[in-house]
Amino acid sequence: MGDPRAFLSLGRHDPRRRPIELRLRDWHEVYEPFPPETLQEQASRCMDCGIPFCHEGCPLGNLIPEWNDLVHRGRMADAAARLEATNNFPEFTGRLCPAPCEGACVLGINSDPVLIKQVELEVADWSARAGGRTGAARLEARPPVARTGKRVAIVGSGPAGLAAAQQLTRAGHHVVVYERAERIGGLLRYGIPEYKMEKAILDRRLDQMRREGTIFRTRTAVGEPGPGVLPDPPRETGPAGVPGSGRPAGPGGPSAPDAVVVPAAELLAQSDVVILAGGSTRPRDLEVPGRNLDGVHFAMDYLKPSNLVCEGALPASPVSAADKHVVIIGGGDTGADCLGTVHRQGAKSVYQLEILPVPPQVRAPSNPWPTWPVILRSSSAHEEGGGRLFSVRTTELVGDEQGHVRSLQLTQVRYEPAPSGPGGRFVEVAGREAGLPADLVLIAMGFSGPERSGLLSELGVDLDGRGNVAVGPDFSTNVEGVLACGDMARGQSLVVWAIAEGRSAAAAADRYLMGTSALPAPIAAGQLALR
Ligand SMILES: Cc1cc2nc3c(=O)[nH]c(=O)nc-3n(C[C@H](O)[C@H](O)[C@H](O)COP(=O)(O)OP(=O)(O)OC[C@H]3O[C@@H](n4cnc5c(N)ncnc54)[C@H](O)[C@@H]3O)c2cc1C
Ligand code: SF4
Repeated sequence: MGDPRAFLSLGRHDPRRRPIELRLRDWHEVYEPFPPETLQEQASRCMDCGIPFCHEGCPLGNLIPEWNDLVHRGRMADAAARLEATNNFPEFTGRLCPAPCEGACVLGINSDPVLIKQVELEVADWSARAGGRTGAARLEARPPVARTGKRVAIVGSGPAGLAAAQQLTRAGHHVVVYERAERIGGLLRYGIPEYKMEKAILDRRLDQMRREGTIFRTRTAVGEPGPGVLPDPPRETGPAGVPGSGRPAGPGGPSAPDAVVVPAAELLAQSDVVILAGGSTRPRDLEVPGRNLDGVHFAMDYLKPSNLVCEGALPASPVSAADKHVVIIGGGDTGADCLGTVHRQGAKSVYQLEILPVPPQVRAPSNPWPTWPVILRSSSAHEEGGGRLFSVRTTELVGDEQGHVRSLQLTQVRYEPAPSGPGGRFVEVAGREAGLPADLVLIAMGFSGPERSGLLSELGVDLDGRGNVAVGPDFSTNVEGVLACGDMARGQSLVVWAIAEGRSAAAAADRYLMGTSALPAPIAAGQLALR
């Protein structure tokens, strides 16, 4: 594996980001090309540790030491084959995954872990360049050798739906993916900004999938609500007299404006199996006075039009941060994606607020290796500017006479853990109130599960205690022939889990159709991360 002694002499070299002043002028990816000689060196740091905990850290069970060794030896084609054996979309995870594998890397016990994610990305992009016959990067298609005649319908084209579709198409089934948005990709297309993953990378993979035989139907919502209808259920209401959003979803709405509706029962009747991969799309709302003011938006109502502009589908975003004072409520990754987008649109000022206390710089004793390190992380967007406030709660949004938000009131809070067991509460610290100017407020407080009416209620699918689609270990729902995977069943999660669920649901669907399956199933439904 690698060079058994390289980890003693070679340090970790992370990829370099382009200069801030340069990258803020465009939407291209943030990172500079990674030198091939550094790649081989970095792969050689994988040290033949005997029990590769990174396998456990990766939900896909990627064969990390094997491809590190092959990259170190310059055998890129073999490395690509090993990588593609466990991961349908390494070019997505290589760019987007927070890399729990690196948190579990044995070298990380007393040194910097192996640069696993970057090696994965370089192998994936090498494979695309090698597959191009006309000079442009292209992925080689692997169509099935035989057809089964079975019809599979997949609802939702995010990473879970796409992984399931590719596996089942390659297994010989007739697969149609239904997507209510304008284009294919789910949050890969309309949530994740261009500067984190250029959409050409997604299109390159979709081109391969089409050549393999997967059929995509965009602008097609399965079940009501259809075109121009609000996300469901109606957004939560705030304290007395403070209704929730109640606004039309607008350009950031879930369906394309001209989407058609296919009744769920019709789809079920026409298919041998249906896989639900519709994501976790109900945003958590902010229950404070002033929530209804103009200029207050959910993160997805902001990110989607920005992505539509980037791909040339909209001339300008109706929700732009240009020349505005912006406040982002929510300190997570969605908030950070808003932050990077705000920077590129040219805001006057921007703050990102988080109710939790600032995490430690290094692992706490209660968070030992190989669990996921809960430490302060700074994304490229944080490096680009803006203020970050921790331990603060928004108490009110204040508007002008025209009903437009102009400032935000906040107060400092202290977290008090429960005397025993999980849970706890936030207590306001008296005398620590403050105000921030805010012409645009973006709510990035996470998601609370799938929409309940339309698709799910038409099918009569049961939900679990958290409001996600209830599934058995094999991803089956209570409705015969209907499976569910990805964020729709797991709840808001990560691209790597969505791919792992899509692959596993595909294996279960294949078994349901054929009685047996050779498709791999990396996880059982609901399986938890290494912790
Ligand atoms: C802003 C943002 C940034 C993120 N960044 C990262 C990141 O950097 N790294 C990471 O690992 N994870 C990230 N995540 C999380 C990750 O994107 C999700 O976990 C993942 O996309 C879930 O995949 P999915 O296929 O289950 O659902 P989704 O990607 O949500 O796709 C679901 C699709 O189903 C469609 N759909 C729903 N209902 C219907 C219907 N009735 N008919 C037709 N179509 C329907 C939706 O339109 C959507 O396109 C991010 C999430 C957000 C919101
Ligand atoms: S998919 Fe994520 S966890 Fe798995 S090897 Fe790649 S970076 Fe690591």
